[in-house]
Amino acid sequence: MNQQIILAKRPTGMPDTTHLPLVESAMPEPDDGQVLIRTIYLSLDPYMRGRMSAAKSYAASVEEGAVMEGQSVGQVVRSRSSDFAEGDFVLAPGGWQAYAAVAGKHLRKLDPADAPISTAVGVLGMPGFTAYAGLEEIGKPQSGETVVVSAAAGAVGQVVGQIARIKGCRVVGVAGADDKCAHVVEAYGFDACVNYKADDFEDQLAAACPDGIDVYWENVGGRVFEAVMGLVNDFARIPVCGRIAHYNDTQAPAGPDRLPGFMGRILVKRLLFKGFIQFDYAYLRDDFARDMSAWIRAGDVRYQEDIVQGLENAVDAFQGLLSGRNRGKLLVQVGEDPTRS
Ligand code: NDP
Repeated sequence: MNQQIILAKRPTGMPDTTHLPLVESAMPEPDDGQVLIRTIYLSLDPYMRGRMSAAKSYAASVEEGAVMEGQSVGQVVRSRSSDFAEGDFVLAPGGWQAYAAVAGKHLRKLDPADAPISTAVGVLGMPGFTAYAGLEEIGKPQSGETVVVSAAAGAVGQVVGQIARIKGCRVVGVAGADDKCAHVVEAYGFDACVNYKADDFEDQLAAACPDGIDVYWENVGGRVFEAVMGLVNDFARIPVCGRIAHYNDTQAPAGPDRLPGFMGRILVKRLLFKGFIQFDYAYLRDDFARDMSAWIRAGDVRYQEDIVQGLENAVDAFQGLLSGRNRGKLLVQVGEDPTRS
């Protein structure tokens, strides 16, 4: 039998196992051109919260009753595609399930000799690419500038900060726990990191940015965003990557309406805000693969993975992602990884 987590009903607020139950189903049979994949790692990512909602977005919602979508790293157990053989490791749109039948054209072969296979959904995959492309095309950090990164210890934030450091910037992280702040300074070479849950967070951020802020990497919204807006320099660039503080909102925030003041700030400071979805910059993928592999090999970029064991723990882990429990790129190990002893 296969094990799957399906979207049984759409959540309001934080999703739980009533919305996302674990069910058993028949083992999928690969059609002609498909391969049967055993999931090793399932990537958990904040965008999945949006896919659970019926609200119109840049991608279609998951249908009620369907398997939750997600990228996975797995191993081919049966192939009906001439491009893949039993035993191959692949990056696949496998979803939240132990086995998936996927058309060969949607798969990418992974060589464990190049990099740990899990990194295909992390530092060398979508989150790492998001950081690279958003900085390259929108943030454009210049040597000597100050770059502030929210959700700094997470999958995207840790990479944003390290690229900005490589480019010679002063890098200030913002994260929700003291140990996360210590980690980004010690492991990734950020110049400073401030805990946004501290009572005097706004003062601490101002002290960490004595020359103001030239690039703000927006991952969260909320209190962090408001503090940053008071410190931005003329012509600051703000790649709007995510707003995770609001993904479980069930109502509009309490007043007063801050929009007129915010618009005034954009005008007077001549700010550049640009929202983006990483695939907008697909043309940078080869550059990213080349640069990121070289940085990792040279020890200039490091990464942390947070691997939760067992598909049955995926919903709890996803709740943790939306509330700051993860330490680095969140993965669920669904099956044995023969490349790790
Ligand atoms: P992370 O690994 O950073 O995990 C999410 C983190 O968000 C948590 O660990 C937590 O860290 C932080 N967080 C959760 N709730 C709040 C809150 N209420 N206020 C402030 N911070 C909060 O996830 P990713 O790196 O995968 O994603 C980071 C952001 O990037 C998300 O907003 C995501 O949607 C976005 N994204 C956008 C893409 C695009 O193409 N535009 C592509 C990929 C990701 P802490 O302890 O610091 O609070």
